[in-house]
Amino acid sequence: MAKTWNAESLAMPSVARLSPYQPGRLSESGMIMLASNENPRGPSPAALEAAKQAATTLHRYPDGSASRLRAQLAGQLDVAEDQLTFGNGSNDILDLIARVFLGPGRTAVFSEHAFAVYPIATQSAGGTAKVVAAQDYGHDLPAMAAATEDRAVSVVFVANPNNPTGHWVSQEAIENFLDAVPSRVIVVIDEAYFEYAESQSDYASALPLLARYPNLVITRSFSKFHGLAALRLGYAVSHPQVANLMNRVRHPFNVNAIAQAAAVASLQDDAYLKACVAENADQRERLATRFAALGSVTMPSAANFLCVHMGDATAANEWLLSQGIAVRPIANYGLPEWLRITIGTPEENEALLVALERRQ
Ligand SMILES: *Cc1c(COP(=O)(O)O)cnc(C)c1O
Repeated sequence: MAKTWNAESLAMPSVARLSPYQPGRLSESGMIMLASNENPRGPSPAALEAAKQAATTLHRYPDGSASRLRAQLAGQLDVAEDQLTFGNGSNDILDLIARVFLGPGRTAVFSEHAFAVYPIATQSAGGTAKVVAAQDYGHDLPAMAAATEDRAVSVVFVANPNNPTGHWVSQEAIENFLDAVPSRVIVVIDEAYFEYAESQSDYASALPLLARYPNLVITRSFSKFHGLAALRLGYAVSHPQVANLMNRVRHPFNVNAIAQAAAVASLQDDAYLKACVAENADQRERLATRFAALGSVTMPSAANFLCVHMGDATAANEWLLSQGIAVRPIANYGLPEWLRITIGTPEENEALLVALERRQ
């Protein structure tokens, strides 16, 4: 092969400049996995049963429009079926949004310390990112709204609650934000953790605002609370015209049959899911108190993880790994002194605390 041949020089410059997403540590047997914000209890037993059933017809293509799941979810959310778009994880949805609304000459606005997929989706569509400085580690919504005055801006991404910080904004703040942003800008509220956030009294989903703001898109995931990360399923709720546009660039069979079946069952297992939320809220509070006793500050969190100040986070991470516990260093999010720690089961959390106490 010619030595001078260089594929990167042939790629679109926006792609050549991309750095790929860095996933959390892969699950290993025997390791306590607190690195990727999955539900530590796993999926509902009903979802597992439905997945097994669906595995008996793997030679058939899945339902490309996810009709059963669509009907189930539309009913539960009280939205029209044509407002829903399903994706191979909500990551796929973020990508569909970027492919429809971003490209060369267009800009996406998001916050410092925001979810790492926003810059990747923006740049791979050929768009430009405008990062707005955070305020106390959270979204500075007035500054983000001001940034949309630039006519090149076509999309704003707001994670509520945010990953990796756990910060959340109230429904009133979102409403003021939507009032301040021109309707030519698509406002994406990423609610990957909304089920957990409802334990915070001033949190509310943006879903009821959809009727008043046609430029609002809400994205959600089955990877975290529903415990179905491996199956890859997420969705958007939007104006039907926005859903129609996303459907034009969507791959025809982007959501597999097992994911569709498991999700329908999971959505029906209210008791299991409520217990998961209650345990998470409980453990989150307990962990924050224990971290404080260890001299570690935690950021307020509405999600199933905590951002913990460690000082030398690299050393703390290495110590935890040596003790068989995987958490998430977040230097790549501009937070080199912090670790993001998923709330595990009570037993896992205890093991984490004991490991940290032993280090002191
Ligand atoms: C995990 C996560 C997602 C993506 O989840 P999928 O597994 O692709 O559904 C989206 N947004 C945020 C903020 C997340 O933390």
